[in-house]
Amino acid sequence: MLDRRGLAPIHYAAYRGSLEIISLLLFEGANINYGKSERQNSPLHMAAINGHIEVCRLLLKSGARRYVVNHNDRTAAQTAADNGHFHCAILINNYVPREEVTYYTIPEFTGSEPKLPPPLAELFYEFIMMTNIHPVKVVFELPPVFLVDDNALKIVNVLQIMSRRIFNKKEEDTSTKEMLSFKFHYLATILFEIAKPNDVTSKKQTDPKDVFIQKISNNNNYLEQFLYDCIVKFSFKDSTLFRKMVYYMTQGMDSMPHLDIILLLVGNKRALSEESANKPPVTCGACEEINASNKCPKCKTVQYCNHKCLRIHSLMHKKECRRIRKDSKASKDTSTLAKCLSKLGIK
Ligand SMILES: [Zn+2]
Ligand SMILES: [Zn+2]
Repeated sequence: MLDRRGLAPIHYAAYRGSLEIISLLLFEGANINYGKSERQNSPLHMAAINGHIEVCRLLLKSGARRYVVNHNDRTAAQTAADNGHFHCAILINNYVPREEVTYYTIPEFTGSEPKLPPPLAELFYEFIMMTNIHPVKVVFELPPVFLVDDNALKIVNVLQIMSRRIFNKKEEDTSTKEMLSFKFHYLATILFEIAKPNDVTSKKQTDPKDVFIQKISNNNNYLEQFLYDCIVKFSFKDSTLFRKMVYYMTQGMDSMPHLDIILLLVGNKRALSEESANKPPVTCGACEEINASNKCPKCKTVQYCNHKCLRIHSLMHKKECRRIRKDSKASKDTSTLAKCLSKLGIK
């Protein structure tokens, strides 16, 4: 049943954000990818126009194809971004169908071991769906069970296969598949670094996650070098994404830190900052998660998610914290001076 513009009821339900009606229509066999309307928008486009994030999630879960374009040659994620719904665009771009993960939990031959131990599937799925990929956040989100026995190596292997697989997928939007391919490679690189045996001479039992966090927070050069290695080890050197990264890395004085390059091109940083163009989001000083509400008790300028983030950032922030406090004291001093001057009648 289509109207004169070629829109089906599922288009309207998606546009209005009616989850129940969509579920009902899908149950009755509505075509989730129907896009032969006047503007060739799919139901996913219609939900994206109005930023109905939960509807987008349901449609993607039910098999909506994110790579189809409308009459303007825009994908649903691009349509969401065009309309200022960046969280919606981020969800669509980062979405991975659950089957893609389940696939690795099935043994290739009878009797052989699956690439991904089935009990890890759910945690693994959540891990790869994360959208803030700041290294500190990745470490926080890394389930401890990933570091038990040889789980880490298995997961690194699956991530590497997924990175190649998505890159070579024909039916995907180029920028989305390059982004996801790098994301999987990046997560694999971090996990591999955390899980690799550290100083064997040390008798102290330390949590490998803490060791990595300490390396990052004690030495900024360590993180930059680590991320540089991660970028140059990306297999797809002729991808647009890789070329963009190299471009940003080689601008001499204007070169961006490797962390910023990755967060910008793969970690949705641009989209997040554009969404709140009028009011920049308060991001955590340690992990860049938005809506960090705890202030540094000393300078009260930098904000953090929680005490854990504050502690991680404390070494890096120390110098800056002192400078901020000095500056604010100086500005207070000038106001005292101004008061005294005005008492004396000097302007
Ligand atoms: Zn944080
Ligand atoms: Zn401070």
